[in-house]
Amino acid sequence: MTGLTEQTQSWQQLDAAHHLHPFTDNQALGQKGSRVVTHAEGVYVYDSEGHKTLDGMAGLWCVNMGYGQQAVIDAITEQLKVLPYYNLFFQSTHPTAAELSALLAQVLPAHMNRVFYTGSGSECNDTVIRMVRHYWASQGKPDKTVMISRHNAYHGSTMAGASLGGMKPMHQQGGLPIPDICHIDQPYHFEEGGNQDPETFGLERARQLEQKILELGEDRVAAFIAEPIQGAGGVIIAPDSYWKEIKRICDQYHILFISDEVICGFGRTGHWFGCQYYGIEPDLISMAKGITSGYLPLGAVAVSDRVAQGLLSQGGEFNHGFTYSGHPAACAAAIANIKLMQEQDIVTRVRDEIGPYLQQQWATLADHPIVGETRGIGMVAALELVENKVPRTRFHKDKEAGMVCREHCIANGLIMRAVGDTMIIAPPLIITRTEVDQLVATARKSLDDTWRSLQR
Ligand SMILES: *Cc1c(COP(=O)(O)O)cnc(C)c1O
Repeated sequence: MTGLTEQTQSWQQLDAAHHLHPFTDNQALGQKGSRVVTHAEGVYVYDSEGHKTLDGMAGLWCVNMGYGQQAVIDAITEQLKVLPYYNLFFQSTHPTAAELSALLAQVLPAHMNRVFYTGSGSECNDTVIRMVRHYWASQGKPDKTVMISRHNAYHGSTMAGASLGGMKPMHQQGGLPIPDICHIDQPYHFEEGGNQDPETFGLERARQLEQKILELGEDRVAAFIAEPIQGAGGVIIAPDSYWKEIKRICDQYHILFISDEVICGFGRTGHWFGCQYYGIEPDLISMAKGITSGYLPLGAVAVSDRVAQGLLSQGGEFNHGFTYSGHPAACAAAIANIKLMQEQDIVTRVRDEIGPYLQQQWATLADHPIVGETRGIGMVAALELVENKVPRTRFHKDKEAGMVCREHCIANGLIMRAVGDTMIIAPPLIITRTEVDQLVATARKSLDDTWRSLQR
């Protein structure tokens, strides 16, 4: 770690000695040294060595309104002065929780008017399991407990969140999944579709849900959970045939549909929620990340009027909640963030202007010799690294093409994430056209550098 300032080295040493990072090989990182991010503004993050990097991932898909939004910062600060903490248990509320609930009802699909607060996306999905089981019990169907999800889905990192998710490496650690959760295949055409046309493939993958319901029995299945676009799995966008069929199946067999909108929510697809992009009406929505643009941790589960009625009709307590459910400062951040989104009409901007521009520019990368496919919707996109386009072959696993590309991106001033050999971006929604041009130009340069590195 030569050449780094003393201050950077000191932080790296403290970090290596005392900090266990999430989703990290901590031994390897300790030897390499962490990148120390010290401040951020707009779409850029700065490290302790003064490097300026375009944040193509909006932090972890969350800083939708960009860094340094004074209105959000002020709202948090004011709230901390007035009421830094109070809980929502035992018949209490506070103004920010009440006001945010009404504001969310305003931006949510029309049939959803109630929310339950959590501190994160994982907590939302834990909540969702308990809530749908409680709902079905309230309907006199206590055996409807099985949750169906998809392989390679991401629904968080708690025991239940990771169980709902379909990440094999996560299941391998800690004895997951927990009981009554099962998985069907994902609608990932590029990787798993072979020579099938995308629409046939999409239908087949959707019908796995039907097969699973028939296999288990309708009276056992509580809900199907899915991300409108699989984020952490590699920005996987289902063929058009998929969602209509999923909707038909959920309706026909009386299975609740849970849309995990932790990434797709709050404008990422050019709609407030990703389910609206696809025209599907969920029974429950999990949201977090973009709800506060990441300024403070907050999650919320929204329920349809039908589910709300079921939960309320029987009376009695739902024995569930978190100390930080609807933390006042986090609610204040969310209110300020959502109002800012409304004032700037950012969702329309993503749908009609900056989203199409990003997608058009991103698609130009498809002609690159090591790019097998580009895809995207709104402000989220992916490209697939390949060694050969025709016939299509991937790079050998040991070459770690995705990681090589990621390193080049960072060296060139762009944060782009690698999921295996899929490169993904989800920049802040406030990104300008000039910044999009810079993002795509840096991505192209990094692809050139990757190609050169891998040929050695
Ligand atoms: C990030 C994410 C989660 C988990 O949210 P946390 O706040 O990290 O617990 C759940 N679902 C999806 C789709 C996510 O992207």
